[in-house]
Amino acid sequence: MEMQRITRARLDGFSTFRLPASARELVLLEDAGDLRVLLDTGQPVLILGGGSNTLFVGDFDGRVIVNQLTGIDSEVVDRDRVLITAGAGENWHSLVRWTLDRGLWGIENLALIPGLVGAAPMQNIGAYGVELAHCLHAVQAFDRNSGEIVWLKADDCALNYRHSRFKGEDAGRFVILAIQLELFMHGTPVLEYPSLIDELARHGQSQPGDSRTVAAAVMRIRKRKLPDPEHIPNAGSFFKNPVIENSQAQALIDANPELPWWPDKPGCTKLSGGWLIDQLGWRGKTVGDAQVYEKHALVLINRGNASGADVVELARRIRADVERNFNIVLVPEPVLVGGAL
Ligand SMILES: Cc1cc2nc3c(=O)[nH]c(=O)nc-3n(C[C@H](O)[C@H](O)[C@H](O)COP(=O)(O)OP(=O)(O)OC[C@H]3O[C@@H](n4cnc5c(N)ncnc54)[C@H](O)[C@@H]3O)c2cc1C
Repeated sequence: MEMQRITRARLDGFSTFRLPASARELVLLEDAGDLRVLLDTGQPVLILGGGSNTLFVGDFDGRVIVNQLTGIDSEVVDRDRVLITAGAGENWHSLVRWTLDRGLWGIENLALIPGLVGAAPMQNIGAYGVELAHCLHAVQAFDRNSGEIVWLKADDCALNYRHSRFKGEDAGRFVILAIQLELFMHGTPVLEYPSLIDELARHGQSQPGDSRTVAAAVMRIRKRKLPDPEHIPNAGSFFKNPVIENSQAQALIDANPELPWWPDKPGCTKLSGGWLIDQLGWRGKTVGDAQVYEKHALVLINRGNASGADVVELARRIRADVERNFNIVLVPEPVLVGGAL
């Protein structure tokens, strides 16, 4: 089939933050066989999924390849385990629903995360006590260094908190074509987050017997708390929750006992970035049409006509204020294209 190409393409509709920007060229990738030709270009290339973790703060002078490789397959491994292989262009939440429909356990806490399957390993998506790393088996990718399609085991993907080798040392090297998940027919719910425990209790479901019940609770919480990008353009959490050394964290927690924190890798503590921003009175503050979301200080939104410069300026001011007051440097979670903080 003929590839769809648009030159001087508007990018506003290709990112959930809907900032005004354009690319020299945009191509819809429906056949992995076209990749070699598409990547063999002198211009910069950007692989895009649903654009829910990408902010076009400026124009992109190159080729945007929108991944639309679809397909879901399953293979029963034994009495309990099932391997699910999903094309990178599948919608993530549709994949979650697909697994719920079959009674499988594993990704129910990750319901309603926007975006496509191929981006999930990029930042090891996570929510409500579960990360992709908990059930990722392997990633199929086109390796731009060797020109080959490879399968990478999950252990070789360096998955970490909102991070992976695809975002780190191997940024730009791999185009993810598919992922393989190991899910379970008989599972136990992961109920670590107080808000999820409370939500289930309120519905008389404290001991959920199926993954669908857990996913439904997660979806109710998310709908209350987070702006729906369909109506309010945003990219979810704008900053990562900071992970700092225990000694610095303890001093902050002693001075602010209500500061939410979680144990992290050895020697480190994760703090609530939203709480830090909130303490400094940023909720609702604006630069141009970029605003700190009224219901969640970690989320920035586009009130309609925000420019990339508005978002960058607002984020810079927040980051400087947090550093001045708490001696913590916030790191943006989404990928900024066409500019930087
Ligand atoms: C309202 C809202 C809530 C959110 N909640 C969460 C949450 O709870 N947890 C969480 O982890 N995230 C959350 N996010 C962030 C986002 O949904 C995830 O990061 C998601 O995985 C991004 O998918 P995408 O397809 O939109 O990625 P994109 O924004 O299209 O891409 C993200 C990055 O991955 C690269 N990329 C995309 N596809 C490929 C591919 N096939 N091969 C190689 N590189 C690729 C892109 O170049 C870019 O660098 C939220 C976002 C929103 C808007």
